[in-house]
Amino acid sequence: MAAPTEHRTPDRPDAPSDADRSAPAPEEAGAVANPFEDLPHPHLELEPDGPHLSDFYAYAELLTDPELEHLRRLRSYLASDVAPVVDEAWASDSFPDQLIDGFAGLDLAGLPYGLSGWSDEPARRVFMGFVHAEIARVDASTNSFFGVHSGLAMGSIDACGTPEQRERWLPPMARMETIGAFGLTEPHGGSDVAGGMETTARCEGEEWVIDGHKRWIGNGTFADVIIIWARDVSEGEDGRAVRGFVVPRETEGLTTAKIEGKTSLRITQNADITLSGVRVPDENRLSGGKGTFADAGAVLRRTRGNASWACTGVQMASYELALSYALEREQFGRPIAGFQMVQDALVQMLGNTTASLGMAVRNAALIDAGGGSDAHSALAKQFCADRMRETVALGRQVVGGNGIIVGNGIARYFADAEALYSYEGTREMNTLIVGKAVTGHSAFVR
Ligand SMILES: Cc1cc2nc3c(=O)[nH]c(=O)nc-3n(C[C@H](O)[C@H](O)[C@H](O)COP(=O)(O)OP(=O)(O)OC[C@H]3O[C@@H](n4cnc5c(N)ncnc54)[C@H](O)[C@@H]3O)c2cc1C
Repeated sequence: MAAPTEHRTPDRPDAPSDADRSAPAPEEAGAVANPFEDLPHPHLELEPDGPHLSDFYAYAELLTDPELEHLRRLRSYLASDVAPVVDEAWASDSFPDQLIDGFAGLDLAGLPYGLSGWSDEPARRVFMGFVHAEIARVDASTNSFFGVHSGLAMGSIDACGTPEQRERWLPPMARMETIGAFGLTEPHGGSDVAGGMETTARCEGEEWVIDGHKRWIGNGTFADVIIIWARDVSEGEDGRAVRGFVVPRETEGLTTAKIEGKTSLRITQNADITLSGVRVPDENRLSGGKGTFADAGAVLRRTRGNASWACTGVQMASYELALSYALEREQFGRPIAGFQMVQDALVQMLGNTTASLGMAVRNAALIDAGGGSDAHSALAKQFCADRMRETVALGRQVVGGNGIIVGNGIARYFADAEALYSYEGTREMNTLIVGKAVTGHSAFVR
């Protein structure tokens, strides 16, 4: 684990300059090998300034000038360093390691916790939402890497740690010298991980001994620290308490294995994790929360809202790619954009995207104002994910056969949408959360 040092400021000398980040030509950004050079290529505008075509109601105008400046720097970096590498990384199922330094240079990870060179105040959720949408608009896996680290891992320490634990772990994570992962899901415990958690932690003097398995853990193959959630089976406990532990990856007994063969979010490195007699000191137990599953729930309450923004970003890209293609592709002697049924698809995509953005914005604003409940974030995730699934399918439809080629833009979003649909609570789990809130009756079976 890297030792804490001073905050890296946004104007540090080794940070990429705006000049370094000039947007590449569209044919450089994810170009597809195409023997027919006159064929149109779906185009995602990577110019850092100005509104996106998909922000039809101009929601970005809700941001302040300093927030817009952050976003401009992020867009510039995404254009120069992320867009050009993601199709190849997706095809080869690999994570471009340079993204860690790149995101560190942007100084975004600590923003929600007031840990950045920009401000000591926690960033607004509305602004962080735009950050997630912006990253997902270029690549959903890259947003997953950033979200797991900044949202789930840092968020666990922030929500469930003591002030001393926050002071110890968060600053190096904010600088991205220490990368985090979040280990909740298990091979036999997905939707029902609260009731069915099999990983155990047993207190032995000043230490805890952790045994079990975790599955699907994003960043799990390379993270420096992994938040492991485990059922407390210490003497005198009835096994109902669930505790979070900060487990450094080099701890003896912890092994990780990359999950191979994914068809979605292929750049995200998900791992199966085995914990076999893993020992951590009591100071690594997140002891500022309730010591129940509600602690993990408190983290997910925050990050589910972020997931709704990611689903929105994917829709923004899909709509923009499909629109650009429809304007260029000609059939029956005219651009396909001029056909009523193609316009119907495009307008449905725009409506889905606009409704998702509106819901994500309002949910974030409620949280910023000190309100917002589990049900609000669950409904936002459920709705935006549902709309996303339709939007990416319509986008693929508009691009026709060319829409199934990775490198032609739309195919990657189409495939990545499936993982977004299931993580941070499946549609059914989020529906049950909202259903319970609005009816007063729980349809969960335990
Ligand atoms: C790419 C990716 C990244 C992930 N990253 C992480 C991570 O970083 N950390 C982490 O801890 N987890 C992570 N996850 C795990 C993710 O949160 C789970 O996949 C999710 O919670 C669903 O669990 P499951 O896949 O085991 O599906 P299951 O729980 O087995 O569900 C299968 C199906 O049954 C449905 N179902 C289950 N119970 C009910 C019910 N009572 N009523 C109606 N329908 C029901 C579900 O909705 C789903 O459609 C990730 C998953 C993916 C795919």
